[in-house]
Amino acid sequence: MIKTPAILSLLSLGLLCATGAHAGEGSSCCATMASGKSVATSMTMAADKDASTCPAKPTMKDASSCASMAAGKDITIPASEIIPDTILTREAQSQLSPDAVLSILMDGNKEYIADNLTVRNNTQRVRDAALGQYPMAVVLSCLDSRVPVEDVFHRGIGDLFVARVAGNIVNEDILGSMEFACKVSGSKLIVVLGHEHCGAIRSAIQGVELGNITALLSKIQPAVQEAKSSFKGDASASNPKFVQTVCDDNVLLAVQQIRDQSPILKQMEDDGEIKIVGGIYHLESGQVELLD
Ligand SMILES: [Zn+2]
Repeated sequence: MIKTPAILSLLSLGLLCATGAHAGEGSSCCATMASGKSVATSMTMAADKDASTCPAKPTMKDASSCASMAAGKDITIPASEIIPDTILTREAQSQLSPDAVLSILMDGNKEYIADNLTVRNNTQRVRDAALGQYPMAVVLSCLDSRVPVEDVFHRGIGDLFVARVAGNIVNEDILGSMEFACKVSGSKLIVVLGHEHCGAIRSAIQGVELGNITALLSKIQPAVQEAKSSFKGDASASNPKFVQTVCDDNVLLAVQQIRDQSPILKQMEDDGEIKIVGGIYHLESGQVELLD
């Protein structure tokens, strides 16, 4: 039931296999990597041969070569190896406290860091979610492709609202989305998630001006000025420590903006109905570090 973040695309293959779609030559190897365990197959001899070539610890290179072999044979991942999660219901969502949701997400992040992402019964979940959604949290993330939010917290379909914009900045539309998530749809937690080595943060420090990017980066300037007011040393985009300081300040300012600019969310937080937190995603470890 284990795969690595590096072979996320293989998870899809595993799920296709699980739902009866056709995989192929070498697919037993791929499914084994996707699920972390052996798979049943109608082509036992071929499976044994393929499995013998399957590395114990798959890499991106292994995954791509395996995926390229897929074509033509049926394989099955035992149901016992697929998380039989059900879509959150209104009742289940209402019983979650903000702290419980935060614990679920942070525990999920530990599973992500430990390469313990698991095959989910996604096609069933897609059908189950068709008539409604009751996500437990809303995450405001940067646009960055290296931050796969659902995977980072090991959550699936129907679990999270995810708002993404370069630099994870807050504006009226983001606030409206958060108010919908929490006040209308019952989410219990807001996470503003910045990340290491953020290009938007670096560009804001550099004062980049280009088309609509100029207006976007202007919303990060308060964090740049905040960081400059206290940072000792080279306050430029070429200093990773300064970039990270701006990144942290940008997250903390976003959390404060949510409270200041949304009376609805502020009231919900004061009443203990929701929690608003900021965090940083570390690109090299996959860890989410909560900011105070
Ligand atoms: Zn970014």
